[in-house]
This record gives sequence, structure tokens and C-alpha cells, in this order.
Amino acid sequence: MYDYCVIGGGIVGVATAYRILQERPGASLVLVDKADRLATHQTGHNSGVVHSGIYYAPGSLKARMCRQGARWTTEFAAAHDIPYRVCGKLLVATDSAEHARMLDLYERSVTNGVDVESIDAAELARREPRVRGVGALYVPSTAIVDYTRVTEVLAAQVRARGAEIVLGAEITAIAENSDAVTVSGPSGSWRAARMVACGGLQADRLARLAGLPISLRIVPFRGEYYQLPSARSDLVDTLIYPIPDPELPFLGVHLSPTIDGALTVGPNAVLGLAREGYRKGGVDLRDAREILCYPGFHRVAAANVRTGLRELRDSLFKRGYLAQCRKYCPELTLSDLLPRECGIRAQAVLRDGTLVHDFMIERTERSVHVLNAPSPAATSAMPIAEHIVESL
Ligand SMILES: Cc1cc2nc3c(=O)[nH]c(=O)nc-3n(C[C@H](O)[C@H](O)[C@H](O)COP(=O)(O)OP(=O)(O)OC[C@H]3O[C@@H](n4cnc5c(N)ncnc54)[C@H](O)[C@@H]3O)c2cc1C
Repeated sequence: MYDYCVIGGGIVGVATAYRILQERPGASLVLVDKADRLATHQTGHNSGVVHSGIYYAPGSLKARMCRQGARWTTEFAAAHDIPYRVCGKLLVATDSAEHARMLDLYERSVTNGVDVESIDAAELARREPRVRGVGALYVPSTAIVDYTRVTEVLAAQVRARGAEIVLGAEITAIAENSDAVTVSGPSGSWRAARMVACGGLQADRLARLAGLPISLRIVPFRGEYYQLPSARSDLVDTLIYPIPDPELPFLGVHLSPTIDGALTVGPNAVLGLAREGYRKGGVDLRDAREILCYPGFHRVAAANVRTGLRELRDSLFKRGYLAQCRKYCPELTLSDLLPRECGIRAQAVLRDGTLVHDFMIERTERSVHVLNAPSPAATSAMPIAEHIVESL
């Protein structure tokens, strides 16, 4: 019997294992993941941005943990020689409506304690000559990193402290009683005094396996990217983001330098019919049936018909996608948009159609389930882990 079992080898699961062993050195721990390598899903398919925490509702877990997590990520990267670059972020308003939302966002950033500067069109053109807008917010602290690398380094530390990491082991049953939790599947069974499930796109299914009375479902939203030709990768130096729609949990198509020197465009947000199907048009029958029969999804769809159809059109026709980027970077052309693998976001949706914006973590007597850990959970992984360890 182990002291701890963690399900999920994404950044949240591995950070949790790391934190447990920091708090309780010598504890026995096993981490299991169904994939053959760590960071296979969201952690290995994201924009690699270390967010500063400007967007999130003041007082929310996201607002607090993102700020703390960005600090932790900076320190961890420096301590372990992980490539990391503070490139700053510009949030660009392209018309008067966006400018009004930009001013609201400025207030929110100040409330959240994040250093931000409001600049006019001329200053924007001076800083990023290829970008156009009526004004922008500049966040100097935003950085980029490779979260797969961060996860691998965390995992090496976890192994060095004597823990086991078992890959290729899908968990299909969870039984909790008064003395232990047993998790099992086709490749084995593990018994532990405490269990933490960090299942990302499968978080709701793991919670249901454990018998938690949850009233939410994970709905997958594909985040499709393009990559610019290498000759264009110096187009911008800073991360360039649109002003987000406050009603939606997604940040909009942005231009992001990556730590390996590429420049990506994206991600959009299109309903997916396969939680782990990265191919365009991929459908998983079980996933599709669950989504399409879920009342919460019908309500989300009804409330966002126009946005949903626009995102679908722009996913199918590159020209629409390009138009979203050309709003702030007019010189981009269709031939600049080269294919790049997409990511799939795990977004929790309640039965009444509410998109859960904040992180959501539930516990039972012996277990903790991370039910909603969308962006910026890669940035916030260590504070999420600390929160989990406190509640264990
Ligand atoms: C397109 C996109 C862009 C993003 N951009 C950013 C960004 O720039 N900055 C940022 O901070 N965040 C970003 N995010 C969010 C961030 O990537 C996620 O919040 C974070 O990676 C979540 O980590 P996780 O460990 O919870 O989930 P995951 O990385 O998805 O890991 C979950 C793991 O659980 C395993 N698992 C599931 N079910 C089982 C089972 N039954 N048995 C065994 N194992 C199981 C899976 O195989 C998987 O490895 C982005 C996400 C996406 C999709």
C-alpha cells in the first residue's frame, strides 16, 4: 500500500506529486497515466505562455494562483536551466468597443495587482511596427516556456525522491473505503491511503468512477493553431493578444513566439467531438454522444450560436481565421498560415449551461479531484498543487 496515488501525468498531476514529496519527504507515492509519456494532452499542446494574471475575476482562485504560479515558474526554470523568456504581452484594441473593454481590463489588472501600462496607437506602432490598433495594454512580466519540459524536470525530481511513475496504465475503476483508495485498470491495481485525480479532459469521468455526485461535464474545445514560416518568425517580438470577450473563457487568437524560436497563431475555440482526437473532424462516438445529449451543452450552444458558428466557419476556411489575425497584424497572408498540431481544452460545463470559469477542486474523505483546470492552469500548477496538498 502506498501513502499517495496520483492519477494524471500532466503538469497538475506531476506538480502535485512533487509538492506532496516536498511536504512529506519519505512518503511512498505512485503516479499513473494512461498515456505512454508525460504531458501528452493539454500540457503538451498549449501556447507555452506564463500568464501574469490580469484577466481573472478578482478574488478567484485563478487570479491568486496565476500570479503565484508565474513567480514559481520563473524561479523553477532558473533553478533547473529550463529555457524561459520574459517577452511581455500586448493586448491590442482594434476599435472603440474593444478600447472600452481594454479600459475595463486595465482596472481589473490593477485590482489584481499586476503591473500593466496603457499605451496609445502611436506608442504601439513604435514598439511593434507590424501591429495596428487604437491602443493597447502592455504587460511586461508575461513570459514563455515549454511546459512539457517543466513537467519532465518535475517528474525527474519526483523519481529522485523515490516515487514511481507508471505510464500506459489507464484507470477504469476507483474504490474508496474507510482505510484506503484502490485505483485499477487493465494494467494493474494500486492501493493508497490518499488519492488525487488530475485527469484533465477525463476529469469528470474519473470523478464519476469514484462515485462523486458531480453535476458537470467536460466539454472539449479544440484550439487550432497555425505556425508562421521561419522567415517570418521575427514578425513580432512581444506576445500579441486581442482584447478578450469577458463572457467567454477563451482569450482569442494570438501571435505567440515560442521558446524554440517559432511564431504561432492561435488558438481558436471550436467544439470538439473527441476529447483526445487531434485530427481535424475527428469524432469519438462515446464523447460525441455524451456531449450532444448533455443539457448543459444545449444551453451553451443556444447562448453562443453566433460565436460557435463563426469559430466553426473560421476553422473550416482559413480565410476567416486569417481575418481575425489581420485585425491587428494586417500584413499576414494566407500563405503565412502553415499547419501546426492543435490542442484540446477541457472545459467544465454545468447542467444549467454555465461555463465554469474558475479552477474547481472537490474532495472526499480520502481523495481530491481536480474537476476544472483550464488555462492558466499550466502557469498555476504549483499553487494548485499546494492547495490540493493542504486539503489532503
Ligand atoms: C490550446 C491550449 C492552449 C493553452 N495555453 C495555455 C497557456 O499558454 N498558459 C497556461 O498556463 N495554460 C494554457 N493552457 C491550459 C493548460 O495547458 C492546462 O490548463 C494544463 O495543461 C492542465 O494540466 P492537467 O495536468 O490538468 O491536464 P493534462 O495535461 O490534460 O493531463 C491530464 C492527464 O491525465 C491523464 N488521464 C486522464 N484520464 C486518465 C485515466 N483514466 N487513467 C490514467 N490517466 C488518465 C491523461 O492521459 C493526461 O496525461 C492551454 C490549453 C490548451 C488546450
